[in-house]
Amino acid sequence: MTDYGHFIGGRHVAGTSGRFADVFEPMTGEVAGRVALASQEEIRAAVANSAEAQVKWAAVNPQRRARVLMKFLDLINQNMDELAELLSREHGKTVADAKGDIQRGFEVVEFACGVPHLLKGEFTDGAGPGIDAYAMRQPLGVVAGITPFNFPAMIPMWKFAPAIACGNAFILKPSERDPGVPMRLAELMIEAGLPTGILNVVNGDKVAVDALLDDPDIKAIGFVGSTPIAEYIYARGAASGKRVHAFGGAKNHMVIMPDADMDQTVDALIGAGYGSAGERCMAISVAVPVGKGTADRLMEKLVPRVEALKIGPSSDASADYGPLVTQAAVDKVRSYVEIGLKEGATLAVDGRGFKMQGYEKGFYFGSCLFDNVTKDMRIYKEEIFGPVLSVVRAKTYEEALSLCNDHEYGNGVAIFTRDGDAARDFVSKVQVGMVGVNVPIPTPLAYYSFGGWKRSSFGDLNQHGPDSIRFYTKTKTVTSRWPSGVKEGAEFSMPTM
Ligand code: NAD
Repeated sequence: MTDYGHFIGGRHVAGTSGRFADVFEPMTGEVAGRVALASQEEIRAAVANSAEAQVKWAAVNPQRRARVLMKFLDLINQNMDELAELLSREHGKTVADAKGDIQRGFEVVEFACGVPHLLKGEFTDGAGPGIDAYAMRQPLGVVAGITPFNFPAMIPMWKFAPAIACGNAFILKPSERDPGVPMRLAELMIEAGLPTGILNVVNGDKVAVDALLDDPDIKAIGFVGSTPIAEYIYARGAASGKRVHAFGGAKNHMVIMPDADMDQTVDALIGAGYGSAGERCMAISVAVPVGKGTADRLMEKLVPRVEALKIGPSSDASADYGPLVTQAAVDKVRSYVEIGLKEGATLAVDGRGFKMQGYEKGFYFGSCLFDNVTKDMRIYKEEIFGPVLSVVRAKTYEEALSLCNDHEYGNGVAIFTRDGDAARDFVSKVQVGMVGVNVPIPTPLAYYSFGGWKRSSFGDLNQHGPDSIRFYTKTKTVTSRWPSGVKEGAEFSMPTM
């Protein structure tokens, strides 16, 4: 049993609120530990500790700040197996998938190592007689990140690496369901040479989050999680004068054109739909074949592949995916399958009866595939976040495009085709933030920014890439004139060029 407190001022401290949550091992369904849930007072103490440390950190030159991150990268590599096993144990994803989670965070740390270049400002020599103009980027102070259960390594790193590289102190409030890896990452940052207080981890639930949202010393909040909470975080954080970006849920479509290579498409669809048990914000949850012939060919190839998916405990290297995160997640997914049946969709593959031998109490759910889903059904409109794929048959390309555009979520989308004209038209017209052409999970590379549209994202500026540097800094613009260029006499009209 692991007992998680908080990580403040470079050391583990026990929780004092007297409130705890269970941390499960989804593979067995056993309680593996408990995590302290911070009180308002504990949050205040963590913020005060960070605020004090931040002033000195901001004065460390960017090259030296980057060196801490470089050392951190070495330490991640040295500890990769241990981190992946811990992640897999608390989350349920397979160890190979856990390594991917860590690697996509690692790549953003690599990007943040370029901070000396990324923080270079703008300069205009001779903007007027004896006048130079320049703009520089300065850190905000103390900033906070609130992260979801489904990427417990990647999303914390997406948030804290650029923030810290820019000279801020960072308070991380990870998901209470899998706090082990975020706590371990904070230890490794200290081992890499980060001064204490620059990365504090507070565990908790709504009480901790509300305390962060209302704290006047926190200047910015980055959130990732479900849409209702993202909207709440955005509104409450902005009301207290903070910079906020909050990323929410998704319903990602894959449009399959009649000319698509069907074998390649099915390979891509099955990995993107069922990998990590569908618990990814960039998972494909809706396939939209265009034309009856395309839909029939898709189903012919897809059904046997979905039936053959191998579900296993997280420790099974040959498993395609493992358990869901909690029993509550299993119950929610099951209830959506029942809803889909009541709504009249065709359950082409029914995984409801799946049992994992030897792991009867684990949080497993068999793969499900719905055909003939229509846009008025709840299983189409709402995020299920499990191994359930819906097929919505479109008669034309225009109908497929409208489905993507009319959906309230706009996180990711993909088109599979060999027709360059169709792909180009789709990329131009689709109302979604991240688009793949023959790429099923178009999560942008670390040096581009990540973010959805519509109700998948609230606030301005995206995560990682150039936007992260803008989000975690404020711009100061200076106009300077030196005496040799000064004209005689006072001027009373508005100065112009
Ligand atoms: P969640 O919204 O339940 O929790 C996210 C965070 O918010 C956690 O740290 C949690 O402690 C906190 N929280 C939960 N309820 C709260 C409340 N009432 N008030 C204040 N804080 C609260 O999300 P989750 O289940 O951990 O993660 C899955 C969701 O995250 C899915 O909807 C998925 O699509 C989304 N997600 C989005 C992205 C993206 O970039 N758009 C990436 C990953 C996950």
